Amino acid sequence: MSRDPQRAATQFFGGRVCLDFANTLDWRTSAEPQELVPNYAAFLGWCGRRGTLSPQAIKALELIALKKPADAAAAQAEILSLRSEIWSICDALRRGERSDLARVNALLAQAPSQPSLVRTGSSYVHHLQGKTLSEPLWPILWSLTAVLTSADASRIGCCQADGCGWFYVDESPNRTRLWCSSEVCGNRERARRAYAKRRKKVSGKSG
Ligand SMILES: [Zn+2]
Repeated sequence: MSRDPQRAATQFFGGRVCLDFANTLDWRTSAEPQELVPNYAAFLGWCGRRGTLSPQAIKALELIALKKPADAAAAQAEILSLRSEIWSICDALRRGERSDLARVNALLAQAPSQPSLVRTGSSYVHHLQGKTLSEPLWPILWSLTAVLTSADASRIGCCQADGCGWFYVDESPNRTRLWCSSEVCGNRERARRAYAKRRKKVSGKSG
């Protein structure tokens, strides 16, 4: 199984912030999942690459996390628990089942209303100040509410490659998307299946 943490950390196949965050556990459904955000600092790095917070907010939060490591660890635990919730919600959506939103609704009750947006690079970002360690969780939560309250909810898919487990919004016209990325998982899985087929043929002849 080929693993490329650099690819996983910088390429976003989910199509929505909350799904790309769900995909920060690489090879999620394999026997050896790989954690891409092992601590709060790594998570802030992801927020920067995915563009969910301004560079100023990230810098401010990095300083707070350095001063209060125990609080940063607690915030990280909360963030990873939201990620597990997103997995459960997405799996329920894919099966056409009702999602348990108790935890998400509790987080929404604690979160502030969405702030104004500010320009950053070629897009916009929520104008958060980097004052509290749970701040980076909010753009993910707001992205999740946008998915759940839109047609996206009926288009959640999960990569069919063995062990990948990455989620995406299937925006293909006939909802036929199979892979998180056709170039990565698609190519690898096609090669694996072709190899398995050839092996079967060869062993069939010799047997
Ligand atoms: Zn995949």
